[in-house]
Amino acid sequence: MTALLEARGVVKRFGGLTALDHVDITVGEGEMVGLIGPNGSGKTTLFDCLSRVSNVDAGSITFDGTDITRHRPHQVARLGMSRTFQVIRLYRDLTVSENMELSIQWEGLGASGLFTKTDPGTRRRVESLLEFLLLAPLRNERAGVLSGGQRRLLEIGMALMSEPRLVLLDEATSGVNPALVVEIADRLREVNRSGGVAFLLVEHNVGFVADLCQRVVVLDQGAKLAEGTPRRIMHDPAVVEAYFGAEGEVRK
Ligand code: ADP
Ligand code: MG
Repeated sequence: MTALLEARGVVKRFGGLTALDHVDITVGEGEMVGLIGPNGSGKTTLFDCLSRVSNVDAGSITFDGTDITRHRPHQVARLGMSRTFQVIRLYRDLTVSENMELSIQWEGLGASGLFTKTDPGTRRRVESLLEFLLLAPLRNERAGVLSGGQRRLLEIGMALMSEPRLVLLDEATSGVNPALVVEIADRLREVNRSGGVAFLLVEHNVGFVADLCQRVVVLDQGAKLAEGTPRRIMHDPAVVEAYFGAEGEVRK
């Protein structure tokens, strides 16, 4: 499988704390990869480095053959990588549709993008994604009134607006009721299957990852602890020790 995303030896320090210690990670074309690990193990920091929201202290990142180690986030987005945030970022006072339209204003246009006319192609894409994500009836509601799960769906929609080849999802199921988690899994599988979109999923819900991903990477204290199929990972004694706790119960 060709690597779509390839990071080598990524180091990130915050003062005296080494949040990422020479981490290697790859995501193949059309692959679904899970990234798990205890709280504070560096998952979000790795996302920040990969999406170029944060600078790395060492290491290299390539996306689709381009060295993006020094790229700016909007340049990475333009190459076909998009992401969501653990703490959801959307405009609560704007409607669901407006949030979707704004999400493809990459070049620092921000809210001024609202005052330019949205082209028909964009409007059609918004509508079809909202249908697909079960949000169409809510298109004219303010984003602030959505439930936690609906907000997660909206941010997935926003991440898909730019027709990315890779989406990084940071805790897409946190604060989502179990019925909607099943819907989210179905939608992601469908986007992957029909569009060949690759995903890197940060999750605390290990079942969700095991269900969706071909490969799982486990971080512990900023370093890669294990990597393999979900089945192999779940039975790896080092992972069980670090992540699941002595009794085999998932620690949060
Ligand atoms: P995870 O997403 O796996 O829970 P994070 O990547 O958020 O972990 O955090 C990894 C480590 O880096 C933690 O010890 C956290 O406190 C620290 N950290 C994250 N962001 C910052 C920051 N901006 N400044 C200082 N320390 C940070
Ligand atoms: Mg995190």
